[in-house]
Amino acid sequence: MILFARRRMDRSLPPLLRHAAVIFLRIYYNMSSCIFCKIINNEANATIVFRDDQVTAFRDSRPAAPTHILIVPNKHIESVNSLTSEDEALVGHLFVVARQLSTEEGIAESGYRLITNTGVNGGQTIFHLHLHLLGGARMKYPMG
Ligand code: AMP
Ligand code: ZN
Repeated sequence: MILFARRRMDRSLPPLLRHAAVIFLRIYYNMSSCIFCKIINNEANATIVFRDDQVTAFRDSRPAAPTHILIVPNKHIESVNSLTSEDEALVGHLFVVARQLSTEEGIAESGYRLITNTGVNGGQTIFHLHLHLLGGARMKYPMG
């Protein structure tokens, strides 16, 4: 889809406008195909446990622990690599929601693990920033 649109633009637009259009197309394509954006927009099913104007939290479909919740920003951010200083409050909010959910899930005292995989070597498979909240059992160590 992007390639087709790009080929058409190559012939018709000046370079700067073409560059802006390619960036817009890429963001639009990522958002419209992103499963987490679909869950946030109620276009795909998930067991949602928390939602406000900034973040949504839902149970992982393939839980790796008795409690396995994903906490995601409502705005499409690909990964930690895409964060800017404007996202500082949002990232803080992800952690505060994680803390609230750990209490609701009854795992605050026993302990839990928060993970954000980034990029291929980090094991990221869904390219919409998310915090894994894992608990209810002793986590394995060392990691990696
Ligand atoms: P990561 O590998 O860090 O990108 O984590 C992605 C996580 O999303 C994995 O733990 C998947 O099991 C989980 N996942 C993928 N698709 C869905 C979905 N439709 N609903 C809930 N969790 C999902
Ligand atoms: Zn997304």
